[in-house]
Amino acid sequence: PDLPDSPLLSQLNPNQAQAANHHTGPALVIAGAGSGKTRTLVYRIAHLIGHYGADPGEILAVTFTNKAAAEMRERAKHLVQGADRLWMSTFHSAGVRILRAYGEHIGLRRGFVIYDDDDQMDILKEVMGSIPGIGPDTNPRVLRSILDRAKSNLLTPADLDRSHELFISGIPREAAAEAYRRYEARKKGQNAIDFGDLITETVRLFQEVPAVLDRVQDRAKFIHVDEYQDTNKAQYELTRLLASRDRNLLVVGDPDQSIYKFRGADIQNILDFQKDYPDAKVYMLEHNYRSSARVLNLANKLIENNSERLDKTLKAVKEDGHPVVFHRAPDHRAEGDFVAEWITRLHGEGRPFTDMAVLYRTNAQSRVIEESLRRVQIPAKIVGGVSFYDRREIRDILAYARLAINPDDDVALRRIIGRPRRGIGDTALERLMEWARVNGTSLLTACANAQEMNILDRGAQKPVEFAGLMQAMSEAADNYEPGPFLRYVIENSGYLDLLRQEGQEGQVRMENLDELVNAAEEWSGENEGTIADFLDDAALLSSVDDMRSRTENRDKPEEAVTLMTLHNAKGLEFPVVFIVGAEEGLLPSKNALIEPGGIEEERRLFYVGITRAMERLFLTAAQNRMQYGKTVAAEDSRFLEELGDGFDTVDPYGQVVEYRQKSWKDYRPTVPTRPSAVKNTSPMTEGMAYRGGEKVKHPKFGEGQVLAVAGVGDRQEVTVHFPSVGTKKLLVKFANLSPV
Ligand code: ATP
Ligand code: MG
Repeated sequence: PDLPDSPLLSQLNPNQAQAANHHTGPALVIAGAGSGKTRTLVYRIAHLIGHYGADPGEILAVTFTNKAAAEMRERAKHLVQGADRLWMSTFHSAGVRILRAYGEHIGLRRGFVIYDDDDQMDILKEVMGSIPGIGPDTNPRVLRSILDRAKSNLLTPADLDRSHELFISGIPREAAAEAYRRYEARKKGQNAIDFGDLITETVRLFQEVPAVLDRVQDRAKFIHVDEYQDTNKAQYELTRLLASRDRNLLVVGDPDQSIYKFRGADIQNILDFQKDYPDAKVYMLEHNYRSSARVLNLANKLIENNSERLDKTLKAVKEDGHPVVFHRAPDHRAEGDFVAEWITRLHGEGRPFTDMAVLYRTNAQSRVIEESLRRVQIPAKIVGGVSFYDRREIRDILAYARLAINPDDDVALRRIIGRPRRGIGDTALERLMEWARVNGTSLLTACANAQEMNILDRGAQKPVEFAGLMQAMSEAADNYEPGPFLRYVIENSGYLDLLRQEGQEGQVRMENLDELVNAAEEWSGENEGTIADFLDDAALLSSVDDMRSRTENRDKPEEAVTLMTLHNAKGLEFPVVFIVGAEEGLLPSKNALIEPGGIEEERRLFYVGITRAMERLFLTAAQNRMQYGKTVAAEDSRFLEELGDGFDTVDPYGQVVEYRQKSWKDYRPTVPTRPSAVKNTSPMTEGMAYRGGEKVKHPKFGEGQVLAVAGVGDRQEVTVHFPSVGTKKLLVKFANLSPV
């Protein structure tokens, strides 16, 4: 069809423009990585408003991470007027918003709190003990993942009972269902909901109260979902219900990037879209604007190895670019050093640190990388992993705040009653819990009534004092803005005394608490709302992704290299990408080897990683890796084999040891012969200067003999024996040695 003349659409290629010009009814944009799906989605929103006269207040766009939502909002701001009225959020935050507004219709009480993974574990540990079929050595995590999966699939405890499996993840079916049932009851008693509930309860609300659905639909006449290939059953149903009235649903996705099966994502949702909406318009995008041709070819080659896939065309728009580099390091530390060397070198050539990202399969791999980077003073920020809101002191203070606004939150109470110590020991706590159980009250009510429990002869006053403290905090919560309220909590909880005893570490934690107050104040500057709303946001941020990266990205991108898991990298792009740990058992992961479809899922994950790279891609593997405290031999990932001649193998100096690419010649000029030779000016340190046995002179220690040499470039280290002071390890760069 003909396209209207529009300065917006002219910034898209013809296929993208057709999709962006889609007006009403269902539509599916299905295309490979970097083909401009997200860009098209944002332009479509702008075009809806600018050309078709839609109101920003009736447009909803859903993405998977806060980071992606923030990025989308940022892009939209440049293209549309009234962008702040657009509803752009993750599925989870959309759920919170709806449940806060209408949850009472399905029995959620005001002020409910959101439990995160740890809170879930606390409840599960409590309820699982007395269930037949669940042994004391059962890991509560297994139960938690059963629950999460059930919720992703909209299954209730009764549904589990009815299922045909005898065992679910090794746990007898009836026992799993019973744990689920008790968990739900306990959570409800504490006026809490968990992450899964944010979706499932919203679905239930829409099903049970059509009037509410209708109200929300007024706010979502045009619905967009990015990364649709990763929706699970619950999210699918939520989307379906929302779109059921106006049917203006546009979803975009790439089946080859479906990487959340373990969390219940169902690739079938995108494949079945045309079945669900027979009148859906389908748009295909076939040009990749993100990656160099070499990188893209590598990605295409890899993904062709998947048997269950929809064949798509994806052609490079960019030139060949730099060769892709592979390096096999002797061990995980050397692997980290290799990455650090290259980052230093590229930074030296003028690349900002923000252009570079290191991606890994598991969070645990980040530690070694971080250490390698820190040694050579490369700033790094970890996205995901232990985020700001997951830190102990932050969670403690937020638990106080939670309890202040929801006196039924027993999980929060148990977290903080001993921080700082208040003379309420384990036995006393058990009695309080017993009393609360018998009388059907919250733990806090039990504390307030501790005097009545003759069992607590000594120290009954302590719980009463604690209840008084919480009462005061509760009043403060009603009267203060979020920032000042948190300061009040920090100062009145006695928490600072606790930190003062922790010395240096306590100091750091205090600074983090200051940062928390800052975050709350900053939040108030941008949002209307009470401490309860702030806590909602904080709860969502801690588990889904990192809040700091969000604030940082918005204001001033911090000059740092990004470290994150392959999963977290979805949808993002970086000029330079390192993918580390390309080894069997890691990528593909051990679990994938036994799961049906596991290898294909890992291949998609690797595909996601490769397609994040715009200009340069580095792959690394270690031959030995520390695992569970032991160093074990590792094998190259099978995926490397599948890449064929798509990359060159280099040694630690960046010298090609195995040319595989046809046009390897253009590789040379970009690689200095010796990384160290560029920076070191001392004649001694040019090239591999030192050899064992050599005599050297140090300005302070005098003459000595080199015993050993380790490392390369700026990190080259020598062990020298000086008769004057004994054996010393020195960094060549700083040691100021000269030959004798
Ligand atoms: P992914 O599958 O990784 O989510 P995507 O399909 O959503 O990728 P985008 O992130 O929208 O792709 O686009 C990839 C890059 O290509 C972005 O930098 C985007 O600005 C750029 N791009 C997309 N289309 C065009 C175009 N028509 N002209 C110029 N640049 C484009
Ligand atoms: Mg995208």
